[in-house]
Amino acid sequence: MHIESLLAQAGNGKDQVTGAVSFPVYQTATFRHPALGESTGYDYSRSGNPTRQVLEDLIANLEGGARGLAFASGLAAITNVLSLFRPGDHLVLCQDLYGGTYRLLEQVYGPWGLTASYVDTSDLEQVYGAITSQTKAIFIETPTNPTMRITDLSAVSQICRERDLLLIVDNTFMSPYLQQPIALGAHIVVHSGTKYLGGHNDVVAGLVVAATEDIGERLAFHQNASGAVLAPWDAWLLVRGIKTLGLRLDRAQENAATIARWLETHPAVEGVDFIGLENHPGREVHFRQAKGPGAMISFRVKDPAIIARVLQRIQLISFAESLGGVESLLTFPARQTHGDIPLEIRERCGVTDSLLRLSVGIENVQDLIADLDQALAFE
Ligand SMILES: *Cc1c(COP(=O)(O)O)cnc(C)c1O
Repeated sequence: MHIESLLAQAGNGKDQVTGAVSFPVYQTATFRHPALGESTGYDYSRSGNPTRQVLEDLIANLEGGARGLAFASGLAAITNVLSLFRPGDHLVLCQDLYGGTYRLLEQVYGPWGLTASYVDTSDLEQVYGAITSQTKAIFIETPTNPTMRITDLSAVSQICRERDLLLIVDNTFMSPYLQQPIALGAHIVVHSGTKYLGGHNDVVAGLVVAATEDIGERLAFHQNASGAVLAPWDAWLLVRGIKTLGLRLDRAQENAATIARWLETHPAVEGVDFIGLENHPGREVHFRQAKGPGAMISFRVKDPAIIARVLQRIQLISFAESLGGVESLLTFPARQTHGDIPLEIRERCGVTDSLLRLSVGIENVQDLIADLDQALAFE
């Protein structure tokens, strides 16, 4: 079946008892046992909840994996994946990583004994060069956040097969509607469900998909053992959001393409990173592995001194952290999402004081352009 149909039908047909088209919220902590030694399949909601199960099966199906797991946030999902490693293990990651993932690795897992190297994974030589005898996995975001660098997932998956490493992909920016890393060789996909999957800036959530039952079992054990599960209401909100993922992304991408071309011609702007633009360096690799450019744009202003004014002047667009919702948001990565990344790494990745990141929503594109135009206007 095509993905549009899977999305629209999310949860439908799963409630065998009443036939509810919208799968109900099972707002319960515990479940009655029919008899000693018997279970309905559900015992306690940390271990399993029917509403969460619908979401977990759905994301596994959308990503083409064996097992899906839902967590209280994207970082809880990434923490779950890190449970596969032991002190002394080493990971190779893309250098312009989501700031929260960097902080988790450096400030929580570093002292515990997990080490990490951050390289430009769009350059395979750098990936090879960073692998040590202790390396256990490669962790990729493609496109990266916020500078939209592209990594060739099939090529990195080949390296992982050669060196017996796990390939973990944070697919938050693309969602399974545009990119399915497991089909390209990834062992694990993670998501901040807060972004495109939820899609309405109303829920914080995280998802993990394991390509195999074996990895899925290990991650599910840790999900129950450490307990950062997604609550039933939030699971319901996510299923509800996922139904319109394709429509939202189609519209947001179209808006983003129009805005990116407009920004390129604006006198206050000196560079636009949008994968849909002809001059984007990762374009060819990206369109081999993904169906669309996504709806994230990063751009540099000529004079960083105008940033505070732009952020204050925007009206329709909100100055806020996050991305992937129906509402357009403008973010200042150097101070917000990437504030915890040391200046030296930040500058190497191009996350400078002149960079703004726009998450394009589904509003009327002329209204969005008019808002940016008045905010960027010279005095
Ligand atoms: C937001 C984000 C995360 C973290 O997710 P939370 O839901 O905020 O915990 C991880 N990776 C990427 C790429 C993100 O954008």
